[in-house]
Amino acid sequence: MGNRSSHSTQHKQEIMVTVNDIEMMYDRQLPSWQLVGDNYAALEKMMVREMVVNGCNMVIQYNPCRSTSVTANINKSHERPCFLCDHNLPTEQLRISLWDKYQVLVNPYPLFKHHYTIASTIHTPQRIAGRVNDMLQMSKCFAPYTLFYNGPYSGASAPMHMHFQASEEGYMPIEKQWKTNPRREVMRCNNTHLSYIEGLLRPIFVIEGADIEEIERLFNTLYKVLFQLPHNKDCEEPMMNLMLRWEENHYIMLIFPRSKHRPDCYYANDATRLLISPGSVEMGGIFVTIDNHDFATLTPENVIQIYREVTPSQEDIYHIINTLSAL
Ligand SMILES: [Zn+2]
Repeated sequence: MGNRSSHSTQHKQEIMVTVNDIEMMYDRQLPSWQLVGDNYAALEKMMVREMVVNGCNMVIQYNPCRSTSVTANINKSHERPCFLCDHNLPTEQLRISLWDKYQVLVNPYPLFKHHYTIASTIHTPQRIAGRVNDMLQMSKCFAPYTLFYNGPYSGASAPMHMHFQASEEGYMPIEKQWKTNPRREVMRCNNTHLSYIEGLLRPIFVIEGADIEEIERLFNTLYKVLFQLPHNKDCEEPMMNLMLRWEENHYIMLIFPRSKHRPDCYYANDATRLLISPGSVEMGGIFVTIDNHDFATLTPENVIQIYREVTPSQEDIYHIINTLSAL
């Protein structure tokens, strides 16, 4: 028994994947697959503009290569072949196996340089329950990259197939900005803290600590309490986006509670239409537009309105904070 367990530990170390491994795959992938080479080259010429909304830094990006993802009909996603299943991946797609449980892939339709997708090796729905530990370990393994997760009704374009994504450090303005705002501690577990961050246009909870089990415990408590919100009652998991980083020897997990998959302006039939489908990246302060007109006309008021619509009300957030504080 003892032998078997030490063999298993050794095996885990052998299949450890490093940042160097995934960056080497990236360097091989771009020249070996023209679509990917072209899409990453287009990022160099991508139009972006910066906007400050009530003191929050935002970036508006014009990125037409994301149109399939932005306009994905998640209700019909089961009717088309799953693009994250191994047998459906193009032959050009390079893969790195992670713990025999996930595959690291270069995202062919990037939002930024070094955009990775970490997909489950089996076809199973997008759910965070039981995967927080994996996500924490990945964030440390891939530091300084930022890991993020889009809930099945909170921006994921492949809700039928479990996946995380990784972005370059500092790509999303929120990575730095949350640190300068006042935060209120809601719960703690030894040296691990769950706090609420005020004044950033959208509600944000943060869990900080170095102990994986304590982070999981606080996350699971928040997860259960979020189910109390009316819009989550019929969902398989509370609507949310997650961002996770390993920095300065501890984990930082930002939790963005959601109340809606897409804002009303997405469905408008008139000039007010804006094809914005918010996921972690938008919650992180990057608004991705796929239409030149949307890119040029998006206003600070639109940003405020979109955040307000797709996140729980202040009243709902106070309910969550009060419930957690009373535990
Ligand atoms: Zn699949």
